[in-house]
Amino acid sequence: MDKVLEGLKPEKVFYYFGEISKIPRCSGKEKQISDYLYNFAKSKNLEAIQDEHLNVIIKKPGSRGYENAPVVMLQGHMDMVCEKNEGVDHDFDKDPIKLRIQDGYLYACDTTLGADNGIGVAMAMAVLDSQIEHPPLEVLITTDEEKGMTGANKLDGSLFKSKYLINLDSEGEGVFTAGCAGGSEIDFKIPLKYQNTGGKAFKISVKGLSGGHSGADIHKEKGNANKILGRILYDLIDDVDLVSLVGGSKTNAIPREAHAVVTVKDPARVSEKLNKWNEILKNEYRSTDPDVYAVLTDLNKEVYPLEKYIFKKVTALINLTPVGVLSKSTEIDLVLSSNNLGVITTDDKYIRFFNHPRSNVETLLTKDFIPAMEQLASILEIEYEVGSYYPGWEYAKESKIRDICIETYRDLFKKEPVVGAIHAGLECGLLMDKIPGLDAISFGPDAYDGHSPSEHVSIKSVENIYTLLCEILRRIK
Ligand SMILES: [Zn+2]
Repeated sequence: MDKVLEGLKPEKVFYYFGEISKIPRCSGKEKQISDYLYNFAKSKNLEAIQDEHLNVIIKKPGSRGYENAPVVMLQGHMDMVCEKNEGVDHDFDKDPIKLRIQDGYLYACDTTLGADNGIGVAMAMAVLDSQIEHPPLEVLITTDEEKGMTGANKLDGSLFKSKYLINLDSEGEGVFTAGCAGGSEIDFKIPLKYQNTGGKAFKISVKGLSGGHSGADIHKEKGNANKILGRILYDLIDDVDLVSLVGGSKTNAIPREAHAVVTVKDPARVSEKLNKWNEILKNEYRSTDPDVYAVLTDLNKEVYPLEKYIFKKVTALINLTPVGVLSKSTEIDLVLSSNNLGVITTDDKYIRFFNHPRSNVETLLTKDFIPAMEQLASILEIEYEVGSYYPGWEYAKESKIRDICIETYRDLFKKEPVVGAIHAGLECGLLMDKIPGLDAISFGPDAYDGHSPSEHVSIKSVENIYTLLCEILRRIK
């Protein structure tokens, strides 16, 4: 047992979390952790499957009296986001995660902790290694959740008999998640063609935005740097010529910066226009992104700009692509559909545009947003590609497992839980698509700053959630 974890409760959950923390498990590099989970099952004489995508499935029969209870899937992911503080000497491919405790929270030393989703995995392992009463269990630990859910996506659903799914990859004690968004990608590319006469190169940058997750934070109405730059470029269409355009870094992050290289005839006039834009932006984003600004810098070189018709296509495409919240539920507090024009790149052949639309109601995406964007591409004569749709999880009118969870929570904690859906993705959508009739719920302990080196989880909350999980299982008879 890791010294730091000694004496923590529930003992088995923290024991297994300590073991997992010793094993490298960045997304896409799961061989060792997958083998560890498989060998764990074998050492406990449990039926186990390791599929070709390294997903691990462990089955345990129901306790006495629970032999005929509905089968329950406990599910989490074995990979973690690997981020460390600058200048820290840590090799995620071989070094164990160093743990520390501060004020009742478990942290790592200058790296992500991997409580997302190591705590969920450890809870499932603790259940498998315990004598608690439970229905027949199918524990599924997937790979590569953080990068693209490819483990869950490639899973063979026929391996399962589960009726209920308890996903352990949420955070927030007292919250039950009962719905998530699906999504897709739609990418455009415009081929480059240059003019024969060059000009002085300048850069127009949009900066100072705070960004955020394109699902979980989309309701905050943060500025999208790509979109803002598109508006500005259209205003400057007679003042500058476009050379190249880049913005954002990930399709699932709201872009914080975007940059256009342009040639400029009258830099003073462009600067003056940008000053006006700064007033407009400061007003529009005064409560969400007050530090936003646009700036012109002289690159001190000569370049050849793109043909004007390409510039016009680029601005039309950006300005006609809707981003941010597209629709909201009138039943619960939830964004139903959204889009993020997350990344723009320029290579030697094309300017490319990468969108990540999401939707909690499939048809709002597949029968509305995507067709609209296809029509836009056709009108503007722009090549596009639509990625495959990953299914969401629509909030069910009725759900037995949801009712059991709510009742158990009330009985244990004498409080009302919060029940809702999220606009981000969970693997539940994919699993429900593959295993027909699956009734699902998702929950987890209080955890903060996920995917960053300040990630931490409440020790007390882990205990509460484990108690809750065991009691829910005991009640599924
Ligand atoms: Zn996760």
